[in-house]
Amino acid sequence: MSDTIFSKIIAGEIPCHKVYEDDLVLAFLDIFPLSPGHTLVIPKEPAATVDALSDDSAAAIGRVLPRIARAVMAATGIDQYNILQNNGPRAHQAVFHVHFHIIPKTEDGVGLGVGWNPGSLEQDQAATLAKQIADAMVP
Ligand code: 5GP
Repeated sequence: MSDTIFSKIIAGEIPCHKVYEDDLVLAFLDIFPLSPGHTLVIPKEPAATVDALSDDSAAAIGRVLPRIARAVMAATGIDQYNILQNNGPRAHQAVFHVHFHIIPKTEDGVGLGVGWNPGSLEQDQAATLAKQIADAMVP
């Protein structure tokens, strides 16, 4: 569970530029935007990382994320964007309350820069790993 700046925003103790709210979800502008319209979509549930999030909160975010993305697109005029979601400090998470970034990518490249260094998928290892993950799935 988290007690973070986002909990204070949900409680109304710290202001934000709100763009959407329902019983389970809040969305507001990022205070340090990578591009105009950079929006954070968060559950009201104080889970630190996605793996700790309830099915209800996850479903509520999934239901509105495309609608919020469409609204950001309409308001900013952009047609491309990244959705970024960080879990853990090594994975670039700074605020330990689940949040999805919607980051518009402008025509001149302003937005999220992505470092991407792909490896290769070894077939034997992939089969083993896929089975391990499938077996670890909790209903
Ligand atoms: P993370 O690196 O954890 O995925 O991103 C956290 C984000 O929260 C950052 O983009 C940062 O700018 C944003 N942020 C941190 N504090 C505040 C705040 O008080 N208000 C708003 N609106 N955004 C915040």
